[in-house]
Amino acid sequence: ETLQVALGRRSYPIHIGGGLLEQAEELLRPLGVGRWVIVCDDTVAALYGAPLARRTGWPLVTFPAGEGSKSLEEYDRLCRRLVQLGLTRSDGIVALGGGVTGDLAGFAAATLLRGVALVQAPTTLLAQVDSAVGGKTGLDLPEGKNLLGCFYQPRMVLADTVCLATLPRRQLACGMAEVIKYGCIADEELLTRLEQQEPDWPRIIRRCLACKAALVAQDERDEGPRRLLNFGHTFGHAMEALGGGRYTHGECVAAGMMEMLRWQTAHGSDQTAMLARLGALLERYDLPRKLDDLPEAAWRQYLLRDKKRSGGEMTIAVLERPGHGVLWSVTPEELLEETRWM
Ligand code: NAD
Ligand code: ZN
Repeated sequence: ETLQVALGRRSYPIHIGGGLLEQAEELLRPLGVGRWVIVCDDTVAALYGAPLARRTGWPLVTFPAGEGSKSLEEYDRLCRRLVQLGLTRSDGIVALGGGVTGDLAGFAAATLLRGVALVQAPTTLLAQVDSAVGGKTGLDLPEGKNLLGCFYQPRMVLADTVCLATLPRRQLACGMAEVIKYGCIADEELLTRLEQQEPDWPRIIRRCLACKAALVAQDERDEGPRRLLNFGHTFGHAMEALGGGRYTHGECVAAGMMEMLRWQTAHGSDQTAMLARLGALLERYDLPRKLDDLPEAAWRQYLLRDKKRSGGEMTIAVLERPGHGVLWSVTPEELLEETRWM
């Protein structure tokens, strides 16, 4: 299963399927890159990095697993290791792992020697349906997540669905929230499949990435239609920040999508039927409909402060009908006024 992200000279293929890592050498050969270095966290190194390094002879550079590694310290360590390995401008980096690896290794690839070739080889469901495609890379600062970064498109994406078998249940659910989001904004048939069938991963991932690839091709820098992908993220981000690591990104997006439908319902766009449908789907995939111990007043306050700072109108993603998202422009006051939407 192959998709293409259409970005002119920077277009790239997305390969999706079981066992792709076994064929990595052949798949990457046409890119004409000198030497590859594999970058992954220590958990993924043990599972997939070391076997890949053994098969290919490519060197492996690892870092500690977890969000904490999206730091300047880990970036510094990684870049220096790559330089010590003798990486040149005609070589490349394989970012093998979840979203943390994609962001960290992607940022290193974008900046080291003013840019070396990058292949995203995502191993979590979240990374396979979302972060590996689209070119966003970056690091966190103590002041907040993803404050440092740039757009840097990979030369290829290799989503090997075999990797999903070792993913902890909660990580899988985290990615499912994004899958459900794609169904909501762009693919009603995907919603129906998720309601009726056991997941067929290559197929699900292909449908999600077809949506993302199209939006990225239209709006690489996230200034227009790509913002549809933020459905559930407006409230979700505030919940995630306030949760302080208690909730996964996906859990916050799940609760954030429900919250947005409640908000729409209170603002002249009745989503009662969709709320029931989404609620049932989230339950089926071990995701919360509400984060009970996060006081609504708290994340509302947080969001208001955040949005006031950026000032003026803001764009939010809402649903017009199942499988069709649209962008609305609202003021922070409209979004957060005390209404019946609880
Ligand atoms: P992650 O990379 O930390 O992976 C989660 C955990 O799963 C890690 O402990 C990892 O070692 C482990 N793991 C990875 N693959 C595994 C496998 N196949 N089997 C068993 N364990 C495995 O986190 P994530 O949830 O993949 O990604 C979250 C990050 O992605 C956040 O930092 C977020 O900001 C970023 N993100 C980036 C984008 C983007 O467009 N760049 C989009 C969404 C999220
Ligand atoms: Zn997300």
